[in-house]
Amino acid sequence: MGPPGAGKGTQAAVLARDLGLAHLATGDILRNETAAGSPVGLKAKTFMEAGRLVPDDVMTQLVGEYVVKAAKANGFVLDGYPRTLPQADALQALLEGASIVLTAVVNLEVPEEVIVARLANRQTCPKDQRTYHPVNNPPGKPGVCDACGSALVTRNDDSEAVVRNRLRVYRESTAPLVEFYKKQGLLKSVDGLAAIPKIVLAIKGILDEAQTAGPDSGRGTGRGETP
Ligand code: ADP
Ligand code: ADP
Repeated sequence: MGPPGAGKGTQAAVLARDLGLAHLATGDILRNETAAGSPVGLKAKTFMEAGRLVPDDVMTQLVGEYVVKAAKANGFVLDGYPRTLPQADALQALLEGASIVLTAVVNLEVPEEVIVARLANRQTCPKDQRTYHPVNNPPGKPGVCDACGSALVTRNDDSEAVVRNRLRVYRESTAPLVEFYKKQGLLKSVDGLAAIPKIVLAIKGILDEAQTAGPDSGRGTGRGETP
């Protein structure tokens, strides 16, 4: 979890690569659906361009399909979902139905002023959705994706006006999830201002610790209390 631009995609991509997990990023999935002109993509487009959330029922149906596929593999890192309390409830039901235990909820903390500056300079690969930053996380060759060689673009929802709207939506609809997961003893907050490799190490430490504690510790059941 984390506000727009907190570094969720950057971290999730590294964790997925290093730990052999599937990376389920709802923003990436939606952008791919939009580019393909699918019915879901067309429905999502106007919400995304305005920096508003795509309706919960659309999201839950979309994530359900991917989670069930990924559950058969080695596990997954969810990036950008859930973003509302109804989505969190739907996820809990989905995971329980598939006997999957949520290991941890990592919350990247970054102040809003830093976010606006980061997103104004974010460069995104339109093909594989990797993100870069000319100073904080530059590609090897300026303007070109390291992984697939595509020309990087600025997402049309990274303009300052839309970012301000996304931050408002985050405060109103998504921030309450911090408390929701804290109550379950699952929330692990990380300083999102640290250098990218340092955050990777911190999250890996959190995941190791959560796995050592195991599913019997009361986490992931929805019944755990804040320690
Ligand atoms: P999110 O998926 O949360 O929206 P991204 O992972 O796309 O965020 O990161 C947003 C921007 O900030 C990108 O340009 C990325 O390169 C940059 N970034 C990511 N993590 C850090 C960090 N720890 N410090 C500075 N910049 C970062
Ligand atoms: P960021 O992390 O930079 O805010 P994402 O790529 O995760 O951006 O999401 C981009 C847009 O896709 C969001 O502003 C929203 O319109 C839509 N979206 C992504 N995930 C969800 C979700 N779980 N619920 C509703 N809308 C979503």
